[in-house]
Amino acid sequence: MLLFLGSHPALDFLNTRYGPHGQVVECIGDGRSLVDWLVGAGLVDAAGATKMKRRLGQEALDTASEEARRVREWARGWIARWAEAPTADYGRELVVLNGLLGRATSRREVVLSEGRLQLTESHRIESAEELLAMVALQIALLITNEEPALIKECASSACTLSFLDRTKSHRRLFCSATVCGNRAKVAAFRERQRKND
Ligand SMILES: [Zn+2]
Repeated sequence: MLLFLGSHPALDFLNTRYGPHGQVVECIGDGRSLVDWLVGAGLVDAAGATKMKRRLGQEALDTASEEARRVREWARGWIARWAEAPTADYGRELVVLNGLLGRATSRREVVLSEGRLQLTESHRIESAEELLAMVALQIALLITNEEPALIKECASSACTLSFLDRTKSHRRLFCSATVCGNRAKVAAFRERQRKND
């Protein structure tokens, strides 16, 4: 099951591997599911994804998903360190990130839209390797635009998901109020009952 609870595509990307109660769920285990995830995250449209699967082929996409899983675990470690120490020297990590960003080929065009000329930038994915550039862009947007202190892990002990706390009060505790929030409430209730017995 694909989860989009991270409030940021970069964190949703980290959340493509999660482990409730010690089980591990892998959401991008092959190329097809990587493309499906990109669609779910709003980074690729559905029509583009169908064409992409046809054009790039399963083998190349599977290889890209393998790299995506490696990049994800690398990013997980780095984002956690960056959230703790945002001004530390990340020269080595930036070389890796910028290498991934550099794979994107973008095309700029001036088009007539809504009655005026507008400059647009589009990405045409020519190879499966370029999919990693899309993921890298989201990581780049996270570390350049967002507040490191607002990257949090779900407060439920059974949950491994992380999220960006976009609430005004910055007091979001759970990936999902309905799932983990409720579970925590039930656990606290049981604990109180146990003490009262
Ligand atoms: Zn949770």
